[in-house]
Amino acid sequence: MTSKQIIIIGGGYAGLSLGALLAHHNYQVTMYEAHTYVGGCASYFKRHKFKFDAGATTLSGLGTGRPLRILCDQLNISLPSIKLDHPMRIHLTDNTIIERFADLDKFIEVLDNEFPKVDNKAFWYGLKEREENLWSVLGAGQHFPPKSIKDISKLLRPKVLAKAPLGLWAFTPFIKTLPKGIRNNPRYMDLINQQLLISTQSLASEVPALLAAMGLIYPDDMHYSFGGMASLAEALSDFIIQKGGEVHKRHRVIEVKESGLRLKVHGINPTKKPFEKEADIVVSNLTIWDTPKLFKGDLKQLFPMPKERSAWGAITAYFSIKGEKSVSPLYHQIHIKDELLGNGSLFFSFSHPDDSERAPLGHQTVTVSTHTQSDHWQQFFENGDYEENKERIRKRILEIFNQKFLNYETGKVEVGTPHTFERFTSRHKGLVGGLPHNLRNNILTFPEQRTPLDGFYQIGDTTFPGQGIVGVTTGAFLLAGKLLGKNFLE
Ligand SMILES: Cc1cc2nc3c(=O)[nH]c(=O)nc-3n(C[C@H](O)[C@H](O)[C@H](O)COP(=O)(O)OP(=O)(O)OC[C@H]3O[C@@H](n4cnc5c(N)ncnc54)[C@H](O)[C@@H]3O)c2cc1C
Repeated sequence: MTSKQIIIIGGGYAGLSLGALLAHHNYQVTMYEAHTYVGGCASYFKRHKFKFDAGATTLSGLGTGRPLRILCDQLNISLPSIKLDHPMRIHLTDNTIIERFADLDKFIEVLDNEFPKVDNKAFWYGLKEREENLWSVLGAGQHFPPKSIKDISKLLRPKVLAKAPLGLWAFTPFIKTLPKGIRNNPRYMDLINQQLLISTQSLASEVPALLAAMGLIYPDDMHYSFGGMASLAEALSDFIIQKGGEVHKRHRVIEVKESGLRLKVHGINPTKKPFEKEADIVVSNLTIWDTPKLFKGDLKQLFPMPKERSAWGAITAYFSIKGEKSVSPLYHQIHIKDELLGNGSLFFSFSHPDDSERAPLGHQTVTVSTHTQSDHWQQFFENGDYEENKERIRKRILEIFNQKFLNYETGKVEVGTPHTFERFTSRHKGLVGGLPHNLRNNILTFPEQRTPLDGFYQIGDTTFPGQGIVGVTTGAFLLAGKLLGKNFLE
């Protein structure tokens, strides 16, 4: 029985998953979360009778053998959720509708109608095979990059070696692997690129073919979580507490110091009083740009500020709707060419009509999101036209909603910008969605969980393996596995 003490800085999905796994294995877990609620980028806020997902809105990785399923099964957490047979509707710029069904054959039928000259079956089944192969060796990520003979021996096992050709896909731009029929068809390329942007944060020209497969197949395993995206986050937080751990909300950590052979964190509590606590291990769930800010003096030299390397900010909008018929399916990607909303698509997510925790009967909540350059918003601030740009976005999003979804009464529309995310999640410049996987940020150059300071680790969407709830939960498994000397994903 171990009773090691661990402090986790930040209660995003990475920190919560790690905290719950370690609490389950008898670690004494203390978590400090700066915000009022846990969940970070996948948290929520309330307005009157409505509960809005603030950032993330789609949950995947709950299928058999996938990380969130393993997490819930290990901890015996039952999440009120449903698997979506019809996860998404994609609206191309020419108003063509592409129905994204979870059943790949059904989706391929849709594509065959729209793009009859492409061998859609061969292409999408090729992606599916690559995606399944990658999941099957995910556990090996615990030993990557190898740091010891043991790591090397784990990576040289026949099961892992059999999948070694996958490594090639990790360095091949996806675009090079696309059949000509897709590459030369701007409408098909728009479909691919916009789907990749919401999953891998990169375009086909930048994303490694390996990650592209995961990004394009993820709607096969999309789930709706009743109560919103933070339901699982709150269940993980409750689990830590039930196991004797502590989750302190509105506690901001400001510094980490050495204390003999241990580490000590210092912070500010909700009444603005300082607190401090020592532990054997400290884990930062902050971004790789925020973790260095926790160190002063000599320790600062161990944590140089990394480059931002193409990370995104987000624009979001939130409102409630009321109509005779509820909107279905619950997720819509609307492609647009619009300078104001530069990136090429808006993602509309609706609460389930029976989800009374999020909206009263007859109403639904809507969260809209798209990518943006965080630096532009900094400039708007400096030029004094921040509010004006927010207002233009508010109007434009409402206009697009009313064009695509007819006969709904809408409530007040609130808009979020990188500045909003910086304020509520404390992320550097409001950069969200993780470090995009691209040919520069590949599996060899992606920031590691281990750091130069003994006992101090970093997890979350800007460290390996990165991105999205399923990615950061996988990261939590990899670190918990390293600390406990077992592999949860095999
Ligand atoms: C608009 C948007 C849409 C998205 N859509 C999806 C989606 O549909 N599906 C999906 O899987 N992913 C999506 N993502 C990405 C996903 O939400 C994130 O990758 C993931 O939630 C990140 O989790 P994390 O634990 O790494 O970090 P975070 O969620 O950023 O958590 C870090 C936590 O640390 C806390 N913190 C920060 N500083 C301190 C401090 N000094 N002291 C104490 N606490 C601190 C923060 O308050 C925060 O709670 C989306 C993100 C955004 C912004």
